[in-house]
Amino acid sequence: MSDVNARLEQIFHQVVRRNQGEAEFHQAVKEVVETLGPVLLKHPEYASHKIIERICEPERQIIFRVPWQDDKGEVQINRGFRVGFNSALGPYKGGLRFHPSVSLGTIKFLGFEQTFKNALSGMPIGGAKGGADFDPKGKSDGEVMRFCQSFMTELYRHIGEITDVPAGDIGVGGREIGYLFGQYKRITNRYESGVLTGKSPHWGGALVRREATGYGAVFFAEEMLKTRGESLEGKTCVVSGSGNVAIYAIEKLQQLGAKVVACSDSNGVIFDRKGIDLALLKQLKEVTRQRVSNYVSEHPDAQYIENGNIWDVPCQVAFPCATQNELDEASAKTLVANGLIALSEGANMPVTPGGIKVLQTAGVSYAPGKAANAGGVATSALEMQQNASRDAWSFEYTEERLHKIMCNIHRDCYETAKEYGHAGNYVVGANIAGFRRVAEAMVAFGII
Ligand code: GLU
Repeated sequence: MSDVNARLEQIFHQVVRRNQGEAEFHQAVKEVVETLGPVLLKHPEYASHKIIERICEPERQIIFRVPWQDDKGEVQINRGFRVGFNSALGPYKGGLRFHPSVSLGTIKFLGFEQTFKNALSGMPIGGAKGGADFDPKGKSDGEVMRFCQSFMTELYRHIGEITDVPAGDIGVGGREIGYLFGQYKRITNRYESGVLTGKSPHWGGALVRREATGYGAVFFAEEMLKTRGESLEGKTCVVSGSGNVAIYAIEKLQQLGAKVVACSDSNGVIFDRKGIDLALLKQLKEVTRQRVSNYVSEHPDAQYIENGNIWDVPCQVAFPCATQNELDEASAKTLVANGLIALSEGANMPVTPGGIKVLQTAGVSYAPGKAANAGGVATSALEMQQNASRDAWSFEYTEERLHKIMCNIHRDCYETAKEYGHAGNYVVGANIAGFRRVAEAMVAFGII
């Protein structure tokens, strides 16, 4: 085992050397690689085929200029990215993130995670991610449209329904997918529905796709609680964020009888001890595109805490649904002291490595995003299925499929962790179960 661990350490150092300054990518790789020792011992062919080394190197990385004109007629320039990480299990699949913090390192960390997540989903999709350092916040509709058109004017040549299928992520929702699809259709002269997912159900989108990531993270939490003889009913929950993932996590939690007392945006936290008013939150975020601070003008008895830390709010089950590294070691300690029993990641890598250690040591059931938030991309794969067969499924049927997929992912992680002597450790379970699927395909394909 010590030889294997030395090799894994070497692989990690090679990744750091080759991808300098990309701290989030290093963090994501380290978290996976350090759990894979026992798999290499069981499968020497993975070592001889250098599967881990190859998985850590993206298959392709595209960086491009995105020029566009703002409402004042001034020329703006952003940088666009698409990283095709791994296509062993299917066409590249993963979202696009529009956020000023986006860099190649961010996209690589997300694409790496996506590869394992997509494998875990059990659907035939490879891993990818893309985006731009564009900030849609405060931009007019026309500016967002012109940006999306320019972005697609380069991206279109790299994607396709059997090559690479982007979708949304932070800053890319239904509106942006509409503009991107419109431009793809115009440039290529093809109504290729399956080239993007997260489309509106009016023109080829799947019902439940909008809800899927949030619903899925809740279904996963429910399965974790079952293993402890508990359920979500009556539990006090906190959901960070107020985007698409957070809103639909709150919706499903409320349907299952839990009480969500707090949510947030990048400016502050809403604490409503009576339970978040979801209709109001949807109105603010989906219709009028306002900040959560406006919540208190309708509910003066709720509290708005500017720049507050949402993890100071006591809860039994937590759902970080905002962004990476939003929950650190100190916040994890506070949550544990306040009685946390389970945490399910709706966002990608929201808990820091120190935070994860605190949760696991305290016996909290902790679900990493690559398992818990796989419902979004899994439903994207269901959208691709519907597009391929020119079909449209009902909400009930699609939700049932999503629910089954989440239960399967949970079982897969749970049993794999047990098989490798780490019962209850969903990090080990998710990493090994996802890795094995990708590795099997890569060995079968030979050195390519
Ligand atoms: N951005 C989502 C994720 O992180 C969904 C990607 C997709 O549907 O392709 O998994």
